[in-house]
Amino acid sequence: MIIEAYSPGRVNLIGDHTDYSGGLVLPMALDTGTTVRFSPLPTTTVTLRSDADPAPAAIETDVVDPTTIQPAWARYVAGVVVELRSAGYDISGGTGSITTTLPLGAGLSSSAALEVATALALGALGSALEVAQLCRRAEQLASGVPCGIMDQLAATAGVQGCALLIDCRLLTVDPVRIPDGLEVVVIDSGEHRALVGSPYVERRADCERAADVIGPLRDAARGDVERIPDDRLRRRARHVVSENERVAEAADALRTADLQRFGRLLRESHRSLRDDFEVSTPALDALVDELNCTTGVFGARLTGAGFGGCAVAVVERGTVIAGRRVHASAGARVRELKG
Ligand code: ADP
Ligand code: MG
Repeated sequence: MIIEAYSPGRVNLIGDHTDYSGGLVLPMALDTGTTVRFSPLPTTTVTLRSDADPAPAAIETDVVDPTTIQPAWARYVAGVVVELRSAGYDISGGTGSITTTLPLGAGLSSSAALEVATALALGALGSALEVAQLCRRAEQLASGVPCGIMDQLAATAGVQGCALLIDCRLLTVDPVRIPDGLEVVVIDSGEHRALVGSPYVERRADCERAADVIGPLRDAARGDVERIPDDRLRRRARHVVSENERVAEAADALRTADLQRFGRLLRESHRSLRDDFEVSTPALDALVDELNCTTGVFGARLTGAGFGGCAVAVVERGTVIAGRRVHASAGARVRELKG
């Protein structure tokens, strides 16, 4: 028996660094992703080979601590195995292969795609939200990064032709149709980064300290933010609070096909991530500035956690710019192949 599981990557149209404080995000699942083909066998080792790395992952089904496993990418597989086991699954060993059409470490969530496809291939059941939550815990365990739910939930809950308005506190997913006149292009800055060891953890800590002063950032208004005495924490909170507003407004702009307004919100989001949240880089700023001056581009911004990775541009249909044209796609799926 071969089980084939596929998970898309995702691009976030707007709403970065809002998920872990229970805010709003607006990603879409991509038409590129990761496939895991797995054959269960009477063994206690899950062995997977990836076309992205010559060293295979060989994970014992009773693995406890994923953080020391080599090669490093196998930690994500181990994280999934640990979380499946603690959710009560009886995991079989076996062998399999991983192929991907996603760039790794570029901000398109190859890590979530790997976790979700692996979890489904190893037998995870349940709703899109349940699988996403299990995989989020797996990523936290594997990488030590206290990531939010966006990446995994966008991968499991994707809807063809739609962006996903996700409320990360209520854990609801509201598909918003992408108007016909708009296309999404992802442009790689070429500056790749790993979230592991990045200032992501510091940013998250800043948000928690800001919330100690004014309460949950999700409930805060712009006026509350100005009460924070510390300049750095005030700017961090200002980004989160204003970004939540922009996401809600952007979903509305999509619904009413107000593409100019949608683009303007993306440009504002980039400025906020650059100046208040300080997660951009000179290369990303230069790329985004150039895109925002290009005819046919409604708006562009860095996407994902920042510190390198990709920019996303929303453009008038037919506009030619260098980059990867992406289409909003359905979420992860699994099937059994004969053989
Ligand atoms: P992103 O999720 O934006 O691509 P991350 O830094 O979160 O960036 O995750 C990238 C890491 O995930 C890679 O360095 C690698 O360890 C792992 N990874 C993702 N997809 C694969 C794959 N198909 N094969 C092997 N490792 C992968
Ligand atoms: Mg990732």
